[in-house]
Amino acid sequence: MGYKIVLTCDRTMASCYHNNMFFGFSACLPQGVLPDWFYYPVFCPSGKADDRGGLVFANYGMRKIEAALLANGFKRDEVFVAHPEYLHKVVDEDTKILSVSANDPLGIGPATSTFTELWGGEGRMAVKLRELLAHPAVKKAAPVVFLGGPGSWQLAIHPEKRRELGIHCVVIGEGEVTAPKLFKQALENKESLPEVVDGEYAGEQDIHNMVGGSTCGIIEATRGCARSCAFCVPAVRKVRSRPLQNILDEVNVNVRLGKKGVILHGEDILLYKSNGLKVNSDAVVELFDKVSHSPGVKWVTASHASLSSAASSPKTVEKISRVLELGTEKHPTKAFQVGIETGSPRLIQKHMKGKAYPFKPEQWPDVVQDGFRIFHENHIVSCSTIILGLPGEEPEDVRQTIDLVQKLESYQSLIVPLLFTPMETTRLEYAQPFLKQHLTPLHYELLTACWDHNLDWFPALWKNYGRDNNIVIKSIVRFMLKYVRPPLRRRIHRNARKHGAEIAAWT
Ligand code: SF4
Repeated sequence: MGYKIVLTCDRTMASCYHNNMFFGFSACLPQGVLPDWFYYPVFCPSGKADDRGGLVFANYGMRKIEAALLANGFKRDEVFVAHPEYLHKVVDEDTKILSVSANDPLGIGPATSTFTELWGGEGRMAVKLRELLAHPAVKKAAPVVFLGGPGSWQLAIHPEKRRELGIHCVVIGEGEVTAPKLFKQALENKESLPEVVDGEYAGEQDIHNMVGGSTCGIIEATRGCARSCAFCVPAVRKVRSRPLQNILDEVNVNVRLGKKGVILHGEDILLYKSNGLKVNSDAVVELFDKVSHSPGVKWVTASHASLSSAASSPKTVEKISRVLELGTEKHPTKAFQVGIETGSPRLIQKHMKGKAYPFKPEQWPDVVQDGFRIFHENHIVSCSTIILGLPGEEPEDVRQTIDLVQKLESYQSLIVPLLFTPMETTRLEYAQPFLKQHLTPLHYELLTACWDHNLDWFPALWKNYGRDNNIVIKSIVRFMLKYVRPPLRRRIHRNARKHGAEIAAWT
């Protein structure tokens, strides 16, 4: 049976990643780096589908659009969140709209670009999106195709790709207010649709509670970020904290469907109900406390936090850790994503002054070390990023970043180096991307420092983080840690020496 409006995503997003959200980032590896027979079962097993072909736990953004449509006059039997592997069951001549949520539709986001630039190949998400839109049921039904989600900017700046893929309308930014209006317009007169639309700001009254389950139990607590880093998309959104009761109601939706864990999402969870960039400790602790004591919830973590909030309010981190019972046999550790980006106070001052607030840019290296230490002492793993090739970067900036990475060696953490990629709608959207050919010997030194750090920490992190995985996954990872880690480290060092020497010979 076909549905009038089908919401879906590419196959890499239709998974709960063995309940390890960080496995989801493996979709940034280019197609071919890992063969499909290995990648899908190990990193991205197919998400649970119901008997109609619906995705039981779907991408949170898609759930928000579903809720917005239902709240704006669309009927339950018209709107369907589909598993991409079951499109043949739900898309037919009755389907008028196919709306696709995409994280990285052309494989040119910062993480995927870094890997494709260094290792070659095409982003897996781009390959899977192409397959989705070429599905025989989609071709036959010929619905109006919308694309939204965090990666939609890519199709706004590449109209030729948009047309090649058969996408009629791209929505950038928030969709709760805009999608219902556009869908009505598409149903009445699809010829009148604009090709690219900036989504309207969604106020508290526009953000409706999801009615179906979300991937890995993720629930939005805050939206937007006031730190305003020049390269970042959430930086351009106004900051909102959702009411606690709405969050608890959504937790309950997931629990009823069998999801016992919660990932609280926000660009800096420590700024939940904050006064500007000042941590509101009581509100944050209450959030974690109420969510973790919700009936049926077994564990709680957060997606992102900032190092400056942690450094400015270590007591808040301690209290959260106590509420979540971290450091115990039951919950040894949890992981938050944090941004280092650079060890250079000069680049912080130039591109992301707000990142250090309430500290000064010149204090940034100390803030990073403090933040890492506070998280480490409270059993929270810092999964961090740094950016190579920020506009205006000088050798001294890279040297400072190498120094900082080396000072973080004793804190349980991962440090993922990314090549700078300008993104549409950010203040650096017209800056030049940083490519493999721009890497200097110092950058190779920095890449090596990051991978040495990660390879040192992998075994200890996996011991805690991977312990609930099934025996097959555990055996594969154990094998890789024992037999792949040492040659991988040697290869990284060899590559760095080789490229460093080649570059030195040219210059
Ligand atoms: S702190 Fe993070 S989320 Fe906020 S603007 Fe900077 S990079 Fe973006």
